[in-house]
Amino acid sequence: PTSTPSNFIKNIVIEDLNSGKVSQVVTRFPPEPNGYLHIGHAKSIVLNFELADEFKGLTNLRFDDTNPVKEDTEYVESIKADVEWLGFKWDGLFFASNYFEEMYNRAVILIRKGLAYVDDQTADQIRESRGTLTAPGTNSPHRDRSVEENLSLFERMRAGEFKDGERVLRAKIDMSSPNINFRDPVIYRVVHAHHHNTGDAWCIYPMYAYAHPIEDAIEGVTHSICTLEFEDQRPFYDWVIRECEMPNVPRQYEFARLNLTNTVMSKRKLKQLVDEKAVDGWDDPRMPTISGLRRRGFTPEAIRTFAREIGVARSNSTVDAKMLDHFIREDLKLKALRTMGILNPLKVVITNYPEDSVELLDAENNSENPEMGNRQIPFSREIYIEQEDFMENPPNKYFRLFPGNEVRLKNAYFIKCNDFVKDDSGKVIELHCTYDVETKSGSGFTGRKVKGTIHWVDAKSAVPAEFRLYEPLILDDQEDENASFLENLNPNSLQIVQGFVEAGMKEAKPHDKFQFFRHGYFNVDPKHTTNDKLVFNLIVSLKSSFEV
Ligand code: ATP
Ligand code: MG
Ligand code: MG
Repeated sequence: PTSTPSNFIKNIVIEDLNSGKVSQVVTRFPPEPNGYLHIGHAKSIVLNFELADEFKGLTNLRFDDTNPVKEDTEYVESIKADVEWLGFKWDGLFFASNYFEEMYNRAVILIRKGLAYVDDQTADQIRESRGTLTAPGTNSPHRDRSVEENLSLFERMRAGEFKDGERVLRAKIDMSSPNINFRDPVIYRVVHAHHHNTGDAWCIYPMYAYAHPIEDAIEGVTHSICTLEFEDQRPFYDWVIRECEMPNVPRQYEFARLNLTNTVMSKRKLKQLVDEKAVDGWDDPRMPTISGLRRRGFTPEAIRTFAREIGVARSNSTVDAKMLDHFIREDLKLKALRTMGILNPLKVVITNYPEDSVELLDAENNSENPEMGNRQIPFSREIYIEQEDFMENPPNKYFRLFPGNEVRLKNAYFIKCNDFVKDDSGKVIELHCTYDVETKSGSGFTGRKVKGTIHWVDAKSAVPAEFRLYEPLILDDQEDENASFLENLNPNSLQIVQGFVEAGMKEAKPHDKFQFFRHGYFNVDPKHTTNDKLVFNLIVSLKSSFEV
């Protein structure tokens, strides 16, 4: 199995195995099915699965579905598909909702021990009476109900006798504890809502902080890894395990969540982008979701390497999104066919090339990987080059085409610009060039040198293609979590241009990946590509200002 670089959680696992505290590591990845997975989840997936893998342990995929209102089977299915696509196989597939009966019974144990009570206060009253960091909370007037009364009220909650918010079950711990999570936290609430898995069987639902430790214990999880926000919850996690008399004792460990520059990474916000149609669904290639990254052209290998290399720390920080770009470039560098695509075509007529004649030129498929072999590309009298590769009045050091200048056509000949044609608006729409047959690529011609090499495609055989070019969706990083990030969207995050690719690419299939000379890496889009039209997503440009 692949091994993650050393980190503090891995060290704990090694210690626990060596001391005999655990005999087999069991981890879990516990998403709530209320949205699609994002790159932050990938960090947690890689950590949990690889940690268990490395020590011959087990990892469960567990849906933490204790909140019926926001959850949906669409999300369950997408999460399963994404975890598999990332390359991981879970041992157990579980739903927290299948433990509702046991969770209920464990709450009854708490009531019998005098450690839980039914409260009639409203959510606001409960919040206000919790106190603050400096002021203790105040007891609920219902805190001292008898065990019998609590048992009966809790049963009536389950039976559906109360409306949403009319009663809650609270743990009875200490309203003046310095840890606010110990001030009689709510562990059950009434919610009359249909649940994606249990249907209408329940109208009371356990709160996360109560449910999660029980879920871990039921599954025999040994190392329950979560993000730092839950550090304050750990004492209550241990309290639940102990007081509910769970036979297995899992331990919670916290690590820093992944934050990326120019990226929103909360399902709530990503859902907002989808619902408000700011993007083309959860798998829009601009989204940091696993399905968006997949459609954009990122590979599981690149995402896994990224997730390993960012490391596992105990302090929050923000990772430069360029680091993810770096790993996809590394992954595709020797794998992707290097070919030519024209994004903004300008027609060139090679006036001294025989009409109706076509020749096939030899081209390397990947100059850094000879094993990928060579291909033949057609060349004839009319070709397309990039508009930006011609200037009527070039500045100094412009080495591409301008009147009187000669350049090398990649894999072909030198051509010299003699004339150009403008349309009524003054835009250059066609160049007239001549080629020199002696300068053929691979012929060993050394007669004279040119400073510029440009790419091209043969006009007659070119395959029309749409290119979708992306920039970050979010303009600036927002310090204030509550500021409306929707107002900060980059208006240029998607730019669509129509161009051409080499004839040989006609058969390209969704998810085929290419490097277009000078432009970058592209993926054949699975959603918009049809038999008649190729659509390419820019995965990442060639240039990188990021070094690891
Ligand atoms: P969000 O706030 O985006 O909805 P979440 O934490 O509520 O995220 P869950 O579905 O509950 O999402 O998360 C499943 C697991 O993934 C949890 O163990 C959580 O800690 C982890 N996780 C979520 N976001 C990140 C992140 N940005 N970096 C690392 N781990 C994450
Ligand atoms: Mg959540
Ligand atoms: Mg969250």
